[in-house]
Formats: sequence, C-alpha cells, structure tokens
Amino acid sequence: MTEARRTQVLVIGGGQAGLAAGYYLRRAGLDFAILDGATAPGGAWQHYWDSLRLFSPAGYSALPGRPMPQQAGQAYPDATHVVSYLAEYEKRYELPVHRPAWAERVDRTEGGLFTRTSLGDWHSDALILATGNWERPFVPAAPGRREFTGRQLHTYGYRSAAGFAGQRVVVVGGGNSGAQIAADLHRVATVRWVTQRTARFLPDDIDGRALFEIATRRVQDDGPRISDLGDIVATAPVRAARAAGLTAHPMFARLTATGPAWSDGTTWPADAVIWCTGFRPHLVPTGLRRTRGRIPVDGTRAVEDGRIHLLGYGDWTGPASATLIGVGRTARTAVEQIRALAT
Ligand code: FAD
Repeated sequence: MTEARRTQVLVIGGGQAGLAAGYYLRRAGLDFAILDGATAPGGAWQHYWDSLRLFSPAGYSALPGRPMPQQAGQAYPDATHVVSYLAEYEKRYELPVHRPAWAERVDRTEGGLFTRTSLGDWHSDALILATGNWERPFVPAAPGRREFTGRQLHTYGYRSAAGFAGQRVVVVGGGNSGAQIAADLHRVATVRWVTQRTARFLPDDIDGRALFEIATRRVQDDGPRISDLGDIVATAPVRAARAAGLTAHPMFARLTATGPAWSDGTTWPADAVIWCTGFRPHLVPTGLRRTRGRIPVDGTRAVEDGRIHLLGYGDWTGPASATLIGVGRTARTAVEQIRALAT
C-alpha cells in the first residue's frame, strides 16, 4: 500500500464552496489541497440548462477577492460565464486543485483524518467538505411512477427545451428549478406545472442582491427568513412566462401509463414528466451523518468532530452559504476556526 499524502487541511470538492475555502486557506498560510471529482472546473455550474440565468447581477455574484466580470449583453449572467469565472479564479489564486480525484470515505482517528480517494490516501489534520448537492438528485416516490410510459427526467438531466417542442410536458416542483424549467418549456411546449403547495413567488423586485441582504440580517438574527417571503425568484424569463399564462396547478395524485391523474378523476395525457424536486446533500461517508442524512453542525463545524467543517450545502451550514456571494462568509469563519485548532 502506498503511503498517505500529508496536508494540514484537505478540502473535498472544487466547486464555488471549495474554492472560497481555498482562498482563505491560502491567506491563512495553511498547507492544503483541494480534491475535485469532476474532470473540469466549475462544479455544478457545468451541468445547468442553457437558459438558466443567475438570480443576481455579476456585481453580486463574486467569491471573495475577485469581482465577477460583466457578461457581454447579459445583466444576469448564464452558467457558462460562472464556469469561466471559477476556472479563472482557481488559476489566479493558484489553488492546488487535484482533478479528477474522487473521495470515497473518511476514516477519523486520533492521529488524524484519512481520506480514501481515487488518487490514493490523504492524511490531514482538518477537513472541509464542500461536495455540493448535485450528485444526489431526489425524486419522490409518487404512486404509478413506473407505470408512466412517456419520458421522465430530473432537473439533473435537463439541458434545454429543444427536445420538447410541440409536446405536452408535466413539470413537477415549486422551487426555482421547477419555475425556471416550466418557463423555458412554456415557449415551445404545452406545459402543466404542478406543485405540492401553492407556488409562492418572491416579490418581483427581490433578486439575489436583496436575498443576500435578507440573509445577512438573519446572521444578526434580525428580520424575516427568505422562506417566509416566498420560494421562487421571479427572474425575467419566469415573469415573461407568467405573463404569457404559465400557472401552477395542484400536485397530481398518481401517474398512469399516459400521464398524471388527480383524485377528482381529472387526467392530463403527457409525453414527458420532469421532476424538479431537488437534491439531497452529497456527503462523503464520515460516520457523522445523523437525522435526515445531515451532519449536525454548529455553524460550519461538525458537532461530533471539530476537525471537520461543511461548506455550501444550504442554510443549515450558514445563511446564503449555497450562493456565490454568500459562501465566502462561511468559508472565512471555517478557516479561522481551523487555524485556531492548528495553533
Ligand atoms: P458544486 O458546485 O456542486 O461543487 C461540488 C464539487 O465537488 C463538484 O465539482 C463535484 O464533482 C465535487 N465532488 C462531489 N463529491 C465529491 C467526492 N466524493 N470527491 C471529490 N469531489 C467531489 N447560486 C448563486 O450564487 N446564484 C444564483 O443565481 C444561483 N442560481 C441557481 C439556480 C438554480 C436553478 C440552481 C439549481 C442553483 C442556483 N444556484 C445559484 C446555486 C448554486 O449553483 C449551487 O448552490 C452551487 O453550485 C453549489 O456550489 P458547491 O461548491 O457547494 O457545490
């Protein structure tokens, strides 16, 4: 067996959260490495659909240290722009990203943390988990799901409306992905958008900028939670589709061979069902997961093992931590705490 490579801090995941951690680790002068399972930079942004636009203008979508440049002709940049920004970011700060390097599990011992990876073993004093949610799409166990003979896919597999022109498509989900994909398809297909509870749009003037300010007030424990205000950012394409007649309908009771059926007997023949039903945290096994597949945290630090921090998984790892502009705040605190351990 080859000897484990040694580093003070190992970051698992080279998306926006892993890079923000890298920025602060570099500034703190700690020895570190970032392992990323993907073959190219950009994290989840490499996989998003063509029409996706950021919730915020470029000026409000930056990782620490480096403003995101404007994208020509787009007030709200697309995903390819974010991928280029992240690729440039890791070069600019010379972040030691090893790619592709897939972490399989972490063994926690008193003598350190041993991460088993596709590039061999790594031994570190501290660990930052920044593996995102993208690798674990979630589809609910809807009755009749296997009976439906049309096409079914998850947000994970959706790239554009191109293959759906003229079709009848059911879009399931009352979050941003559901609203954005329904809006995208609404231009070329007949869409039946269904949501578990009434679709709740945020006020039209609330974009990622305002969301970040709300999240910042939450850090000070002052003001409403974003979820109190609504679930869906009314981006320009979503507003346009809404004006053109896109509305949300109640969730169906079951799927049949030909499409959804509601409990009052209504049916809607469909060619395809797209499940925009979210993701679950994709966590490398550490033996720390407890209820709902999550690791209990105090801020970003794992309650049961203070050497391990979690970044970017959602509000449970810090308000706005799953956004470009918000993840830096949690990354900075995590690195400060790791540095304190090292001294
Ligand atoms: P990812 O980007 O998923 O990166 C994780 C990386 O870790 C990947 O490269 C993956 O390959 C790697 N990895 C995973 N498992 C392992 C392993 N075991 N070993 C090694 N590597 C591993 N955010 C904004 O800031 N602004 C927006 O406007 C915005 N709009 C959005 C719109 C939609 C519809 C969606 C779905 C998301 C949006 N987001 C937005 C959120 C944002 O895209 C994600 O929260 C963000 O990409 C998560 O970053 P991350 O670094 O945590 O994870």
